[in-house]
Amino acid sequence: LILAGMNTLPPTSIPLAYALEPVPRYTSYPTAAQFDAGIDEGVYRDWLAALDPAAPLSFYVHVPYCRALCWYCGCHTSVLNDDARIARYARRLIREAEMLARAAPSAGPVAHLHFGGGTPTILAPEDFAALIGRIRDLFPFAPDAEIAVEIDPRTLEPAMAEALARAGVNRVSLGIQDMDPQVQKLVNRVQPLDDVVRTMDLLRNVGITRVNADFIYGLPMQSVAHVRNSIATMLDLGIDRAAVFGYAHVPWFKKHQNAIDADLLPGAGERLEQARAAQAAFARAGWEAIGFDHYAHPDDAMARAARAGTLRRNFQGYTTDEADTLIGIGASSIGALPQGYVQNEPHLGKWAQAIDAGHLPVVRGVAVSADDRLRRAVIMQLMAALEVDLEAIARRHGAEPGIFADALVALEPLVEDGLCRIEGYRVAVTPQARFFVRNVAARLDAWWRPSPGRHSLAV
Ligand code: SF4
Repeated sequence: LILAGMNTLPPTSIPLAYALEPVPRYTSYPTAAQFDAGIDEGVYRDWLAALDPAAPLSFYVHVPYCRALCWYCGCHTSVLNDDARIARYARRLIREAEMLARAAPSAGPVAHLHFGGGTPTILAPEDFAALIGRIRDLFPFAPDAEIAVEIDPRTLEPAMAEALARAGVNRVSLGIQDMDPQVQKLVNRVQPLDDVVRTMDLLRNVGITRVNADFIYGLPMQSVAHVRNSIATMLDLGIDRAAVFGYAHVPWFKKHQNAIDADLLPGAGERLEQARAAQAAFARAGWEAIGFDHYAHPDDAMARAARAGTLRRNFQGYTTDEADTLIGIGASSIGALPQGYVQNEPHLGKWAQAIDAGHLPVVRGVAVSADDRLRRAVIMQLMAALEVDLEAIARRHGAEPGIFADALVALEPLVEDGLCRIEGYRVAVTPQARFFVRNVAARLDAWWRPSPGRHSLAV
């Protein structure tokens, strides 16, 4: 199938079967599908106690509440309009941070602190200030630490914008998805342009100027023109970074997605055209494509990290965060430590019980083996730079490059289909196959089996 469409990108000849392949997002390796209950609080405490005090670390704080549910949402969140309960959640986040500080008494300095959700700005301004103030008391911060918050443009109030600025927040991420009123109605996220403009003004007025926008393609009734218009509008409003995700329709896993009429969803070919239209729109604006789904103004830190070869991936996607330790706080949060990955209890009641009983609420995870470390280095390099030297990375890990012999055989059909090129032990994703890097990475993944429903579609 040749797809040319209305893009300025050259046509692609990649078979659409690859777009329909279920592949991990590789925000970690091994992926969350490999987490199990073998990693518990005791293991986590040992890992925390062994942290190198000189090594930077990062925090991710999860706030699992929203004022209304967007039907496409794949996040761990629920609707809550009980402010007293939200305040209790904030107090327990502080208690969790205090337990972590006792378990890792010499950890730090903090390089990144990211608030995600859900809607982190659902916290009352004074509760947000108390939480961030306590984290700053407990852990030393690097002078240039990035403090980032995800924002729902429909609900940001002036008092919260001021609280963000006072707390030192220096980057925000706005959920935009699509600006078309009909598409918005079909996914239960009616977000008039006025709300977005008002939020951008609020942020600018308090001095927060580094703004990421998240877009989604593949929504019901969405078209290439909608994607283009949404991006053009946000570029005009002065964002400096963007992520463009494909909607993952998994109603058997996220029940509320049953509210979306599956007959109105674009097919695989249209989805690919929408992803390509986004790439073309950012290219026209002079932005750089980062990995397979991010874009940045050339002056932005992420574009600089991509050029310098220091771009990384973590559970938020591509990141400039170079710390090897990410500590999760809040229900369902995932942490990454040099020894492996951990995940907090996702059930809100059980998470609260664990905190009240003085337990770190870790319920699953995975220790990283030597083979995992080697393949993680390979896959993360491929995801960030779209090419990788298997031999160089194998030797750095004390292994022979022949360990990838089976993977190279598995990649042969992808070479024939135009997804990648192989020279010796060098694997490079072709320019037309940027959106298919996860298909290439999956062949280097010792854990991956193509099982529908377990992972999202490639495009
Ligand atoms: S505001 Fe964000 S986290 Fe909340 S339901 Fe909508 S998409 Fe999900």
